[in-house]
Amino acid sequence: MECFSLLRSDVPALIDHLGDFGEVIAPHGKGDVSYSFEVVRDSSDVVLDYNRTLLPLKKMFLPPVEKLIGFSLKNESYEQVDVAIAPRVFFGVHSYEMQSILRLDHSMLSGSAESNYFKRRQSSRFVGISFEPDEFHFSESVGVVIEEMEGFDLFLNEVDDDFQLYVLTDNGQEMLNGFDKINLTEPEIVEGRNFKKKIRYHYNRLPRVFQYAYHSDVWADVASRCVGCGACTLTCPTCFCFDVQDHVEVTAEDGMRQRSWDSCMLSTFAEVAGGENFREKTINRTRHRLFRKFKYITDEEGLPWCVGCGRCTAFCPAGISMPDIVNELIQEDEKAQYHRTVRV
Ligand code: SF4
Ligand code: SF4
Repeated sequence: MECFSLLRSDVPALIDHLGDFGEVIAPHGKGDVSYSFEVVRDSSDVVLDYNRTLLPLKKMFLPPVEKLIGFSLKNESYEQVDVAIAPRVFFGVHSYEMQSILRLDHSMLSGSAESNYFKRRQSSRFVGISFEPDEFHFSESVGVVIEEMEGFDLFLNEVDDDFQLYVLTDNGQEMLNGFDKINLTEPEIVEGRNFKKKIRYHYNRLPRVFQYAYHSDVWADVASRCVGCGACTLTCPTCFCFDVQDHVEVTAEDGMRQRSWDSCMLSTFAEVAGGENFREKTINRTRHRLFRKFKYITDEEGLPWCVGCGRCTAFCPAGISMPDIVNELIQEDEKAQYHRTVRV
């Protein structure tokens, strides 16, 4: 793995150079405090120091709303929408975001691959960048360190306000061909980038905590504060639930089938024909959300399905914190274990 030094002032030139390999998509400022992954029109607009984007990179692979097929009732025919994707370079991606794409790969490509996702994924390259954890990031607690480079072709690690550029794949090497503003250097370990938010246990111990957490009192407390808005799941990079609806034009001759993001935190999510709702109460939806992140898929795959981006906490209008809930479950489990031991 080669490592090069790169001046911060030369990063826009690198972004322009990467444009030869596809449309470059990178973080941009949005309003006063938000960030968003957008197509780069001017490389000097790209933001290198950002905490997190409002919507995850997932939106570029599974759009919030997507037309799947058009149909004609008159002709009794339909046509699948062809997803023709040109090569794309995702620049300035944080490690937890890349890990969320790798988890989405598992969800979308295992078994019968989701073809639109697959086409978008196949034509993508990724350039990572380090970040300074804020009060909401806790990715280290779920096994994703700042410098985790899995999935990236290139990775920029900030060192003394400039960068070290790691070349991780053949694609990464190809992307640097002809770019002369870098110099070979020795990799440095950066000290002092500490996570302020932590889960108290190693993530390997969490499935056991969740094994005994189904009837916990913690769920009622969280549910009493939750307003059921769905912001936590709609901004989560590993959530992928969607709804599919057919829309027929007023002429009743043509229509389209559309897929849109859905959220298990919305009260109608588990509603079925006949009016039954399997998770009508907020307490059931809250518990389900956390079990999806730390138990159900984790039992099968051995990894948390939460990457610690902090979005669900940062954007929750009720200030409900994912790591705080997990820490409360841990504390409750420790008390229960103590009582079990004393009784023995
Ligand atoms: S559960 Fe929350 S912290 Fe974890 S990946 Fe989803 S939004 Fe990020
Ligand atoms: S963002 Fe907060 S208030 Fe909204 S559904 Fe999620 S936990 Fe509840």
